[in-house]
Amino acid sequence: MFFSKWLPRLCVLASLLFPSLSASAQQPRPADEITHFAEDVYLYRHQSHQAIFIVTSNGVIVTDPISSDAATWLKAKIATLTDQPVRYVIYSHHHNDHITGGSVFADTARFVSHAAARPKILQAADPTTPVPDLTFTDRMTIDLGGKHVELIYTGRNHSDNSLVLWIPQNSLLFAVDFIPVETVAYRALPDSYPDEWIESLKQVERLDFDILVPGHGKVGTKEHVRLFREYLEALRAAVREQLQNGASLEETKTRIRLPQYEQWYGYADWFTENVDGMYRSLSQQPRQ
Ligand SMILES: [Zn+2]
Repeated sequence: MFFSKWLPRLCVLASLLFPSLSASAQQPRPADEITHFAEDVYLYRHQSHQAIFIVTSNGVIVTDPISSDAATWLKAKIATLTDQPVRYVIYSHHHNDHITGGSVFADTARFVSHAAARPKILQAADPTTPVPDLTFTDRMTIDLGGKHVELIYTGRNHSDNSLVLWIPQNSLLFAVDFIPVETVAYRALPDSYPDEWIESLKQVERLDFDILVPGHGKVGTKEHVRLFREYLEALRAAVREQLQNGASLEETKTRIRLPQYEQWYGYADWFTENVDGMYRSLSQQPRQ
């Protein structure tokens, strides 16, 4: 029992955390690929975006469709794995680089999001992005074909409607754009709520899981939630100190460095923008 439960999980972790052990680092990655995680859970990747899907005996649960091209490709791939239809498409948050293209599943699926995402998707009026017909505010459970999936809202962070998808049976959590793995935050924190973001991460840290699947980049573990929360806290403390000393935005951007994060993905390009976004947030200036 112990091994049947843990061994697949450990193998998945090993192959995800140390991809060079399981795949050639020399070959360029294909634009689209599917990785079998554990039991009935799969990761699919389209260029730099990724999401998960779950195949059950009574239908398939898909998360972010990513784009029309990605969703069309994904639908064909799913058909090679199962005869079951896609019954749910779950939007991680309303940003269109993650949720475009779900219309290819509209013949069989219901579309799910946090309640605050719905009006934004409605307003965007993209015919390839069906408006969610199932929404929730705090928590929602989907039980399908023996699979139990929980959608949980942990507060405002990278958007005001980011959900986490938690699969207790596989000890896996899927969260998009607000818990990057050893990666700094995106640019000048557009559309985000930095103070609440830190509190949101503390809520995620209270959930029980081992594997963290983000919407971009490498897969991580629960430990990466704490690491990213500590990054945001260090960024906020450094910016706050400059503000208290009367530093301007430009001065702050030239003064702050967090060398302990230099190895993280995106530091060279986005760290100064992260400082910019945090400064504007703390000083309540408009952000891009
Ligand atoms: Zn986003």
